[in-house]
Amino acid sequence: GISTDWHEREIREDPVFGIGGALSYINPLIFSGIADYVVLGDGEPVLGHLVGECRKYLSHGDRRKLWENLSEHPSIFVPPLHRDMILSGKDVARKKSFVSDMEGVRGKSLWVCEDSVFGKTVLVELQRGCRRNCSYCTIPSSFGPVRTRSLDKVIEDIDTVKDSENLQVGLVTPEAGDYPHILKLLEYLSFSGQAVSFASLRVDNLSEEMVEALVRSRRYSLTVAPEAGNDRLRFSCGKIFKNDLILEKLSMASRIGVTQVKLYFMAGLPGEEMDDVDSIPELCREIHFHTGLKVRASIGLFVPKPMSRWGMEQICPPDEIKARFRRLKRTFAKGLPRGCSASFHNEGESFLEHSISWFSASNGSLPGGLNRRALSAIIKEYVPDKQFVREQLEILGF
Ligand code: SF4
Repeated sequence: GISTDWHEREIREDPVFGIGGALSYINPLIFSGIADYVVLGDGEPVLGHLVGECRKYLSHGDRRKLWENLSEHPSIFVPPLHRDMILSGKDVARKKSFVSDMEGVRGKSLWVCEDSVFGKTVLVELQRGCRRNCSYCTIPSSFGPVRTRSLDKVIEDIDTVKDSENLQVGLVTPEAGDYPHILKLLEYLSFSGQAVSFASLRVDNLSEEMVEALVRSRRYSLTVAPEAGNDRLRFSCGKIFKNDLILEKLSMASRIGVTQVKLYFMAGLPGEEMDDVDSIPELCREIHFHTGLKVRASIGLFVPKPMSRWGMEQICPPDEIKARFRRLKRTFAKGLPRGCSASFHNEGESFLEHSISWFSASNGSLPGGLNRRALSAIIKEYVPDKQFVREQLEILGF
C-alpha cells in the first residue's frame, strides 16, 4: 500500500498526498509526518496555485521542486520543508486563507446515490463562520469571520437541480437559524415543493417556519443539542437558554407534526457534578411527558478541541466517564418511560479523537499506519502537551 509517511513516500516514489478541509483549520500539525502539503483554511484562494504546481509536477516529476513551489503560497503548509523550522521555533510565514467575498464560491455539492451518507441530496452552503461562541466549539475561532452567501446565489444553486426527482436540499452552515435569509429561503423551497434537511438546530433559534418546512419535507424527527440537562451547565457551555425554552420549542414542534426528537448531550464537561449527569435523563423524561415526543438521547464524552475556549481543559479520566455512562445507562434502562432511549458514543474513540486532535509537529507521524491497533497505541502512549501545541500553532500563524 501507499505509505502514510511523506519521507517514505519520497523514497518509494509513492504518490503525493495533500490535505485540506476541516482539520486544516483546527490543527494542521496533525499531518506533519503524513502530508506533502496541507492547504490552510478556505481552499478557493489557494486552488489556482496548487493546481498549477501539481500540473507542472506531472511533467518535471521532481518532488522537492514541487514542495518548494507549493510553499511559495503562504496558505500552504509543506511539512517536509516547514516541520523542522517549527520544531526549532523559526517563523514559517504561513497564514490561514479566508474567502472574503462569498459570491464567487461554488457553494453546492450533489449526492445522487440513495445509499450515500446524505441520500439523494444537493448540499448548498449558506454561511461560513459562526457569530456565537460556545465554549466547547472550535468553529468561531478556527473557521474565520461570519460570511454569508446571498439568497440569490443560494437559490441559483438550488435551481440547477430543481427538475431532479426526489432530491432534497441539505443546508450547510454552522447554524441554519442564524442565516439572515433563512425564512425567505424556506418560503422559496416550500413554493418550489423541494424537501429540505438541516443538521442539528439550536433550540433557541427554532421557529415555526423551520419546523413546518421539515414536516412539509416529510421529516418528522428533529435534532437539537441541549448539551447539558440543566440550565447552569448549559449556560457555562455558552448556550444561554433554559430547559423551559426547550420544552416550549419542542411542544411547538410536536403541535406542528414532529413525532421524535434526537437530543445531543455531553458528559464530562468542565465543572460537571453527578447531579448534572442525573439531570440528562430527567430532562428527557420531562420532554417526553410535556410534548409527547419520542425522545432519543445521544450522549458523548466532551473532547476539548484546539482553538476552542475550553481547549485547555482536561478530558474526563476514563474511570470517571465509565462511571457516568454506567449510571446513565442504568437510569435510561430502568427509570424512564419506553418513549425515552439513549445511545452512547464509544469513549475509546473520543479519547483517540482527543489525542489526535492535539498532535504536535514532533509526533505528527503514524509509524504503524492508520490501522486500529496503531491508533489505539497512540491513546496509550500520547499525553498531549497542549501549551506546546499552541506555541507550534502560533508559529504556523494560527
Ligand atoms: S456550537 Fe454551533 S452555535 Fe455554538 S459556536 Fe459552534 S457552530 Fe456556533
